[in-house]
Amino acid sequence: MDAIETTCVYCGCGCGLYLHVENSKVIAVTPSLKPPARGRLCAKGWLLHGFVNHPDRLREPLIRRGDRYVQTSWSEALSYIAESFSEIKRDSGPDALAVLTSAKATNEENYLLMKLCRAAFGTNNIDNVARLCHAPTLFALGSSLGSGSMTNPMESLLHSDAIMIIGSNTTEQHPAVAFHIMEARRNGARIIVIDPRRTQIAEIADLHLQLRPGTDIALLNAILNVLVQEGMIDEEFIRSRTEGFDAARDRIAEYTPEVAERICGVPADLIHDAAVLYGGADNAAIVYAMGITQHTHGTDNVQAIVNLALATGNLGRDGSGIYPLRGHQNVQGACDMGALPDYYTGYQRVSEFRGKFEDAWDVKLPTSQGNTAVEIMGSAGSDIRGMYISGENPLLSYPNSSRIRRALESLDLLVVSDIFPTETTRMADVVLPIASFAEKDGTVTSTERKVQLIRKAIDPPGSALPEWVVAAKLLEAFGLSSGYRSSADVMREIASLTPSYGGITHERLEGGGIHWPCPTPDHPGTPVLYRDGFPRGHASFRHVDQCEHQHHKFTLIIGRSQYQFHTGSMTRRVCILEREVPEAFVDINPEDAAALGIRNGTGVILESESGTIRARARLSDNVKRGTLFIPFHFRESPANMLTGWQLDPHSRIPGLKITSVSIRREGA
Ligand code: SF4
Repeated sequence: MDAIETTCVYCGCGCGLYLHVENSKVIAVTPSLKPPARGRLCAKGWLLHGFVNHPDRLREPLIRRGDRYVQTSWSEALSYIAESFSEIKRDSGPDALAVLTSAKATNEENYLLMKLCRAAFGTNNIDNVARLCHAPTLFALGSSLGSGSMTNPMESLLHSDAIMIIGSNTTEQHPAVAFHIMEARRNGARIIVIDPRRTQIAEIADLHLQLRPGTDIALLNAILNVLVQEGMIDEEFIRSRTEGFDAARDRIAEYTPEVAERICGVPADLIHDAAVLYGGADNAAIVYAMGITQHTHGTDNVQAIVNLALATGNLGRDGSGIYPLRGHQNVQGACDMGALPDYYTGYQRVSEFRGKFEDAWDVKLPTSQGNTAVEIMGSAGSDIRGMYISGENPLLSYPNSSRIRRALESLDLLVVSDIFPTETTRMADVVLPIASFAEKDGTVTSTERKVQLIRKAIDPPGSALPEWVVAAKLLEAFGLSSGYRSSADVMREIASLTPSYGGITHERLEGGGIHWPCPTPDHPGTPVLYRDGFPRGHASFRHVDQCEHQHHKFTLIIGRSQYQFHTGSMTRRVCILEREVPEAFVDINPEDAAALGIRNGTGVILESESGTIRARARLSDNVKRGTLFIPFHFRESPANMLTGWQLDPHSRIPGLKITSVSIRREGA
């Protein structure tokens, strides 16, 4: 049996593992001993082989003819795509086209799709799933600190004296990070959890602040207020390395713990205790995820976190730092590769670096402003007529599923690549079968900015191809020379154009992952950012206010289950994972349930301004009265039917995390 070392395809932790291959099939998985896995995997990781050999895999390109799909060759499919997109471009201009790339695709694939979009299609209408998860991180950390990414690696948490976890169900959604937090706790670190739900990690915390959904800013501002009042801020750090503190301090005064208690529902004493615990630690870290970002005020939420870390000088050292946890294997890499409307690779602004990329690619590049993912969907059928979606399933993952369906239906040409049929491939005009992570070489970049190899273990099924090959062929179909013989060639081009990846090659990564920035071939990489200062000179405070909090009868939190991943296209085909959580559930407080005549297992109807779904009730005092929780993985109970279309003004992320709903017993 062969054992091929590679990287897990699911969450952004980037655990290393071995795929064990027998008779050209992946039959087992074992963990790598290197960080971050260090001999451990979560349930999804151990069962990774469950979907790779699944009989549902897409094997041949398909073209829609009327109501049915017919199998076709790659050359016919790619010619059809190139001709159809070119026709739209001729008739309506390049900005009638758009590309959405995948956080499950490699860096090389994201890069070539980005190049295809800009150099061949001629538009900056490109985005990726980060728009739905960590766009606020990119904006707030980028503008305040200089880099919109995790400041420290997971292992740094082992040096923390206090860890504040906010809006992150860490043990279930980022288990490798949770392993490190548990180890830090055994070493004596104190744990603060801020979450409207009593999650697993909340149960082992020293303090759990169970706030009302959507009131994070009031709580974080009150914590900062206590730190100022108690003299627990780092005056020297603030003076020498930051700007804007005095203005922020004046504004923070109104957020007393008592005021925050009225807004958040968390006792003032508990807010005070959390502040003292965080502020009193020599090295304190803040870990957060989509409970913070997926709001129409997501950027302000992240900024409130930045303000706390800056005020206490908790940046630039082991044990300190800010840890935005990325949900997908390569969502960090998709952004690094410029699959964003306003940046080329390495966050080089389109407005500043166009000439550099025009010279490198020998082509004129678009000057017009690109649209973000949700804006692209909003324009489908009017301004946008043709779309290429790589490996994503927006019918379940984007807000307001009914509107997304109408948007995709109204396109002249929809091309979707994936490894399995999904709700979205079923709407495509052309379906492209692509190789899974086990069937191709390339690199991915984990949540801790660590660029790592994935390695081919087996051949793809049928005529499925790695998507970098598909993108290279499409570049040629548009008359652009590509000449890539391997994904390593693509990485050489990325490194030549991207200062933070300048020293990264596949050959070097054979020796282990490297944290960017890694500007030169002899640079060791940068696990901890900001040791010697901030790239923008001084890091900046920006005061943020709690937006008016409306009390609804029921606030629905939309999240995830530890046994499923995203829209379930992979995990729902793994029988052991599907056995654990085969359908959506709605957590409801037993007192609310009793008042509505709802029992454990009762079918319930959830209704919002956007839509209606059915699911099964699960009585749980992990949620307070007035709060409900549902995982979004299930097409039978598509939670995003309920979400609206409002966007955060800074990062353009939609408010996917919470929505106001009514709930009733089915048949009532
Ligand atoms: Fe994969 Fe994430 Fe689990 Fe690690 S923690 S095995 S990367 S899903």
